[in-house]
Amino acid sequence: MSLKGKVIAISGASSGIGLEAARECLAQGAQISICSRNSNNLAKGFKALAATYPRESILSTVVDVTDSTAVSSWIENTVTHFGHLDGAVNNAGIGTEGGATAPLMSMSNEAWDNMIKTNLSGVFYAMRSEITAMLKNERDANGSAGSIVNISSLGGILGFPGASHYSATKWAVIGLARSVAKEMGRHGIRANAVCPGVIDTPMVEGAVGDLSEGLRSVAETSSLGRMGNAAECAGIIAFLLSDKASYITGTSQVVDGGSSA
Ligand code: NDP
Repeated sequence: MSLKGKVIAISGASSGIGLEAARECLAQGAQISICSRNSNNLAKGFKALAATYPRESILSTVVDVTDSTAVSSWIENTVTHFGHLDGAVNNAGIGTEGGATAPLMSMSNEAWDNMIKTNLSGVFYAMRSEITAMLKNERDANGSAGSIVNISSLGGILGFPGASHYSATKWAVIGLARSVAKEMGRHGIRANAVCPGVIDTPMVEGAVGDLSEGLRSVAETSSLGRMGNAAECAGIIAFLLSDKASYITGTSQVVDGGSSA
């Protein structure tokens, strides 16, 4: 598998799954454009990547994915900087407010709206800009013009009690990937989703109370009996971005240690 010569945009790459996806893309020879909302976190992520890989291969931009103008500027600047965009990982996302469970009947409009804006609208804004950029690419020997990977969740294939708003967004980004796979397949653009189970990242570390216990229980009762780590998600993400996955589109790839088996 190689991503040599490809330019990949990755949102939410300051930590966790996004940071490991960025590392894997660089390891496979790609140039990357990373973003996140918090400039200090993003600077730390950039530093971690630039410690091993050439800084010229990494464009780093503070972007809040809930801001559609900022998202489209980020993708346009990526194309201006590197010349083209071949792949994208729509990974930026939030968990429940305060890291606690949020039963639907007591969920505030604000918590709902915030989740939708970040985890769903953020992915929509990004996909729209990414497709616009990819349509300008020359098609390769397989007719491929680009590959998009939306980061969903185990909560995107099962219900997630205490996080119904989160689960709803994660089902929705699978729907976006599957719809775009159908809309854009004839233009050589593939779109897939990756559904991680419980992965040891700052998002999971930040869970408290019932949610924390619930996540630990899902990990312990998974077939492999443990949490995954972000690097274990990065391989499938890079594979889907690569030409090795040239006939794979509209799918959801589960990386959950057998939690859904
Ligand atoms: P992290 O909290 O480590 O990473 C989340 C990333 O998203 C950070 O880089 C954060 O940036 C960024 N982000 C959040 N909100 C915004 C925003 N409005 N604009 C731009 N960037 C933003 O968590 P994970 O690595 O665990 O999560 C990554 C993805 O994986 C999420 O979509 C999550 O839902 C999904 N996932 C995670 C699972 C897990 O068990 N960890 C399981 C299933 C799915 P900043 O530093 O600026 O806040």
